[in-house]
Amino acid sequence: MTASTIANNLQLVTQRIVSACQKNNRAPAEVDLLAVSKTFPAADVAQAHACGQNAFGENYIQEGLAKIAALRVADSSGLQWHCIGPVQSNKTRSVAENFDWVQTIDRLKIAQRLSEQRPMHLPPLQVLIQVNADGGANKSGATPEQVMELATAMAQLPRLQLRGLMAIPEPQPTFALQLQSHRQVKAIFDSLQNTLRNSAAPHAAAFDTLSLGMTDDLEAAIQAGSTMVRVGSGIFGRRSPQPPQSP
Ligand SMILES: *Cc1c(COP(=O)(O)O)cnc(C)c1O
Repeated sequence: MTASTIANNLQLVTQRIVSACQKNNRAPAEVDLLAVSKTFPAADVAQAHACGQNAFGENYIQEGLAKIAALRVADSSGLQWHCIGPVQSNKTRSVAENFDWVQTIDRLKIAQRLSEQRPMHLPPLQVLIQVNADGGANKSGATPEQVMELATAMAQLPRLQLRGLMAIPEPQPTFALQLQSHRQVKAIFDSLQNTLRNSAAPHAAAFDTLSLGMTDDLEAAIQAGSTMVRVGSGIFGRRSPQPPQSP
């Protein structure tokens, strides 16, 4: 993708975020933009970074690690990498050593491994619990019933900082239905945030992030209360179909 296309797309997406915030009396600074660069080359990440975009999300760990390494060499300082795909046990070490955020935690075992393996010279790994709020066919994510117990246990892990929730609701055909499923996630987020703050759990104050909304539904997500939208095709263009990859 050309540099000017990425720059234009970033401007359009930013404008959509600003408009959605204005419509809902929210400050645009409340909503972070995560650029989802999966399937796109490191050169596209570098282009977006040159436009001022710092946070990037990758689904496939091997692919993400390759880009992280490439851009480290290229001296792109200030990049922040989010793992937004499933993390298997045998990948936790490379994730703990190379990513800044992991948004997809749905099991305590993975959280424990990430905490144990996070190098001491790095800040705590910033983590979100992925919640499967609508019981959708996309089966990743903790159930709403599991989330509280998982959050309480994770808040004790020394090398993780639990920052909030992430969800990938099933695609919905209308704005009203998008809003409805996003509000389900927001309700879980609010009750969890309240419980954690009242329990004075370690780091409870940092529970401030709701990662919700993508290219097709970011307006509804912002209306529901998202604090981080994850946008791929809206920035980098359409993805070509992927051959199956192991995460
Ligand atoms: C691919 C992906 C996105 C971005 O999707 P777009 O529709 O391209 O914006 C966001 N979140 C996750 C978890 C993804 O896998």
